[in-house]
Amino acid sequence: MTAQAEIGVIGGSGFYSFLDDVTEVTVDTPYGPPSDSLFLGEISGRSVAFLPRHGRKHHLPPHRINYRANLWALRSAGVRQVLAPCAVGGLRPEYGPGTLLVPDQLVDRTKTRVQSFFDGEPLPDGSQPNVVHCGFADPYCEHGRQAALSAARGRAWEPVDGGTLCVVEGPRFSTRAESRWHAAQGWSVVGMTGHPEAVLARELGLCYASMTLVTDLDAGAETGEGVSHEEVLRVFGENVGRLREVLFDAVGLLPAEQDCVCGRSLDGMDPGIKLP
Ligand SMILES: [Zn+2]
Repeated sequence: MTAQAEIGVIGGSGFYSFLDDVTEVTVDTPYGPPSDSLFLGEISGRSVAFLPRHGRKHHLPPHRINYRANLWALRSAGVRQVLAPCAVGGLRPEYGPGTLLVPDQLVDRTKTRVQSFFDGEPLPDGSQPNVVHCGFADPYCEHGRQAALSAARGRAWEPVDGGTLCVVEGPRFSTRAESRWHAAQGWSVVGMTGHPEAVLARELGLCYASMTLVTDLDAGAETGEGVSHEEVLRVFGENVGRLREVLFDAVGLLPAEQDCVCGRSLDGMDPGIKLP
């Protein structure tokens, strides 16, 4: 596939469905098909590939998403910088519904997901990945984070700068005990999709930044019935318009070229396979 987009957005159809000129491109990968086609469009003069994380019909639960195929497909389209909005629960009472938090740290509590391209399994072309250990101390691209923060402030939506996103396996929500434990660790928000996206992006040398929209207070931080899927959808729907505005502004604020440490994640290592 020839290069067709410089920036990737992993998020639902609410982000691209109204763009005037969208081209749908089907991409296959050595890891199987991604969640859906790539939808290519232009925002602020930048070429963007949208990938609906759960599929356009939202048929893939978080633990069934082919995260490796998604990141590989974006890179094979030419993408080097990724913005990844997602819905989360707030772990502190002050992070109520409608809060926009741009995390700077991540805790992985997923259980069944493949976390690496370098797992010893040969690719269909016969190439053999080597054992590779990428640095992940700072899981998010600082340029992407700053673009998201500036974009939100520009739209008068004061964001929370930094915090820890805890990613759980799902698809169920947390128990009260789990939620209280997550909060007691000092973690900020909890979601189901931000990982292993982040580390797979790192392994491919992609910039990756999360933008989390709080749709509910998690079970330990509120006193009612606990989180409901209906409530999450309602709050997301109420905020998707302004999240899209911030996302598009952030696209325009990303560096013209990837010029940070993210692209050097494999320096000095031989991955054994050819990245797309
Ligand atoms: Zn970066």
